[in-house]
Amino acid sequence: MENKNKVRVRFAPSPTGPLHIGGVRTALYNYLFARQNGGEMILRIEDTDSQRFVPGAEEYINEALAWLGIKIDEGVREGGDFGPYKQSERRDIYRKYMRRLLDEGKAYIAFDTPGELEAARAATPNFQYDASTRMGMRNSLSLPPKEVKRLLDEGTNYVVRFLIEPGRDIEVNDRIRGKVTVNSIILDDKVLYKSADDLPTYHLANIVDDHLMKVTHVIRGEEWLPSAPLHVLLYEAFGWKAPEFVHLPLLLKPDGKGKLSKRDGDRLGFPVFPLEWTDPKTGAVSSGYRESGYLPEAVVNFLALLGWNPGDNEEIMDMDTLIAKFSLDHCSRSGARFDFEKGKWFNHKYLQNTTDQELASLFRPVLESNIGDSSSFSDKYLAGVAALLKGRINFVKDLWEQGRYFFVAPEEYDPKAVRKRWSPEMPAVMEELIAVLEGMESWKSADAEPVVLGWIEAKGYHLGNVMNAFRLSVVGECKGPHMFDITELIGKEETIRRLRRAIEKINPNSDEAKS
Ligand code: GLU
Repeated sequence: MENKNKVRVRFAPSPTGPLHIGGVRTALYNYLFARQNGGEMILRIEDTDSQRFVPGAEEYINEALAWLGIKIDEGVREGGDFGPYKQSERRDIYRKYMRRLLDEGKAYIAFDTPGELEAARAATPNFQYDASTRMGMRNSLSLPPKEVKRLLDEGTNYVVRFLIEPGRDIEVNDRIRGKVTVNSIILDDKVLYKSADDLPTYHLANIVDDHLMKVTHVIRGEEWLPSAPLHVLLYEAFGWKAPEFVHLPLLLKPDGKGKLSKRDGDRLGFPVFPLEWTDPKTGAVSSGYRESGYLPEAVVNFLALLGWNPGDNEEIMDMDTLIAKFSLDHCSRSGARFDFEKGKWFNHKYLQNTTDQELASLFRPVLESNIGDSSSFSDKYLAGVAALLKGRINFVKDLWEQGRYFFVAPEEYDPKAVRKRWSPEMPAVMEELIAVLEGMESWKSADAEPVVLGWIEAKGYHLGNVMNAFRLSVVGECKGPHMFDITELIGKEETIRRLRRAIEKINPNSDEAKS
């Protein structure tokens, strides 16, 4: 067990767009840690920035987590004893804590307009609203009390700023990074609340909620590390014990330097979102792992290893194994390169563990999108195709690219193969082959193979030429799994029909054959 108190963690996304794959990893680590410790996981919607609210984002988050098997114990939909779980519904709570800081002189009211702040920034390089500048600004510390009262009575918009004393060393204890000490001089008097929309900012709402929701561990991305010193000061100002901080390493670009971005996905052709997302304003569609044919188990496994490793060489781990093995102490400090090729490899591995029947049912919609009605192909037939091809695919949709010929007879024949294998005497040889096939008692792969090979040998034909011409006739090119496995599946009639068609259609003297 992690500590005496029950472990409680939260995933606290802002509904400002689709959940990024890095956010999914954060959610996953929270989940693994909670489950491992018999704790609880909260999903809190941090929607205090009304300017950045995007419709559909909250539903997207719920759907993505459900798809991946990340189960939430308390949240907007799940309920719980610490709700509401949406910050925009907790205004009264934040107002109360904002007042408390004001009453205790730990925060103050500021009236500076956006224009005034702009002017201050223009006048002073690296302007920061802090001890060195605040007395030159318009706030409840610099203005006479009467003036402050008048402005408030008039309903002037204001913000509440946190009063930061300079020259203090602030210690942040991070589980992954250890002790990080920062001097308060680098912090500005952060805005905690805005009267205009009667809402707190992220910092106040975040720490008030973590405290009230009894969160024991704050596990989040490294991009939030710079906020941690301020949060430590806020906990101190309220006289609360801070939770343990765990800042996860950044996800880095697959190539080059810097943080993984949506543009890397567009540039290199991989999704950075769990599910497809259509931007409600522009209609632009961003691809998702689900729609790109990834299995959720593969995505979970792949993400789990971006920033953590089990300390042994094991790579394929399902959710239960991950829960058992996961450890915050084995998370890396340095960023994790986002190796999307490895993601494909995981999907390939998980497809091998998927039954042929399941693959068949995943494949049917893909097939229908290519040929329309697929009812003439049984589930058993599709499972047979999956069995022959699964070792070669990274995605279910590859079954179509690799195995189109299982569903439609070739209409064209690879010209290179024709040139190489379809000699002028080949049509006659294929006629002979048809006779051999017609006379066969068993059509099973293992029975058909020795009969055909025996015939080739008895006739003194060139094995490679004849077998490749056979393959070319049935498949349209010289690729695919074992020839007699293909013919067993597509059947005797269809095999012979394709041979007849090839004899008729492939003309060694045509341009196709020569070019
Ligand atoms: N609302 C923040 C986000 O969007 C939460 C950061 C945190 O976990 O404290 O990620």
